[in-house]
Amino acid sequence: MINERTFTIAAVVLCAGNGKRSGLSYNKILYRVGSKTVLENSLDRFVGIADRIVCVCSAVDREAVLSLTSGYENLTVVLGGATRTDSVRNALSVLENVDVVAIHDGARPFVTEEIIIRAVESAYAFGSGISALPVVDAIKASSGDTVHSLDKSTLKAAQTPQAFCLTEIKDAYNRISGSYADDCEVYERAGYSPRLTEGDYSNIKITTPEDLFRLTGDTRVGIGYDVHRMETGRRLILGGVLIPYEKGLLGHSDADALVHAVMDALLSAAGLPDIGVLFPDTDAAYEGADSIKLLDKVMAKVTNGGFRVQCVSAVVMAQRPKLAPYIGQMRKNIAEHCRVGISAVNISATTTEELGIIGEGKGIASSAFCLLVR
Ligand code: MG
Repeated sequence: MINERTFTIAAVVLCAGNGKRSGLSYNKILYRVGSKTVLENSLDRFVGIADRIVCVCSAVDREAVLSLTSGYENLTVVLGGATRTDSVRNALSVLENVDVVAIHDGARPFVTEEIIIRAVESAYAFGSGISALPVVDAIKASSGDTVHSLDKSTLKAAQTPQAFCLTEIKDAYNRISGSYADDCEVYERAGYSPRLTEGDYSNIKITTPEDLFRLTGDTRVGIGYDVHRMETGRRLILGGVLIPYEKGLLGHSDADALVHAVMDALLSAAGLPDIGVLFPDTDAAYEGADSIKLLDKVMAKVTNGGFRVQCVSAVVMAQRPKLAPYIGQMRKNIAEHCRVGISAVNISATTTEELGIIGEGKGIASSAFCLLVR
């Protein structure tokens, strides 16, 4: 979506804090969940709404922020100041010819398009739009030993974005000095009357290590298991690797028990029918099929469901041959087709101490777990 409004919008995304309370040794906005950092999650919410974005960071994070933001269009990185107020002032100084500016904490990656639009439309119509919500907890003012309970019916918790008519918020920043908690306070102290818009309880500011876990979103685990019989005159293929051996696995497809277990784990996590249903052995189309290619079909279904793979963990149970030399290539094949880094795919191999069908060399089995993220 592009900004189809009759007015122009800039976003200021603040990332100049140090995030000490997050328990990380580095700025929490650089914390990566899957393929994206907190900062990219926050910035992405403004793409298509804001005509330009100003990202404010500290000197320590400048290189990292420049590299993360290099792919964004119309994005400028500016250095922050000693306080939040100074950082916003620096950002506003590079903005001109924009009607509305939405100022947002980079550590609020759960902001939605609806919240942003409510704030910017209010700013265009009335000068300001401050995302805020009624407080949920009972609020106490305390000083020393005295506690005074406040009437929470009149209290609101302010979030970001806080959007303003650019000329008004620039004027407000020019007229005040000192350090303030947010832009609403600056605007108010300069004599303007802020107007509240509805925020969202999910639009939290990432502060503690627990908050970082919320970024993983909707996660699902899946399990898959497969076993194939060993026969002479068949090729042995596991994890898409052709393994030289006197026997191979018997099946309608190439009988790659490892890839079959991985596919069933993925389908199970995504709530989809298993490979027996998707690729029936009565269908001639799958005779001798390359299972790695079937994995691509499974991944297409998983992706269609809105999921991506976070990790895969599998075990192959085989008495013979020794699989250790081939594990690296198996991981590489599965990682590539699941579209994750190789470190997200782990495969172990075990014998069964010559016990049972595996131990007697009659077959090879595999089981796999996966974690999907929506
Ligand atoms: Mg199978």
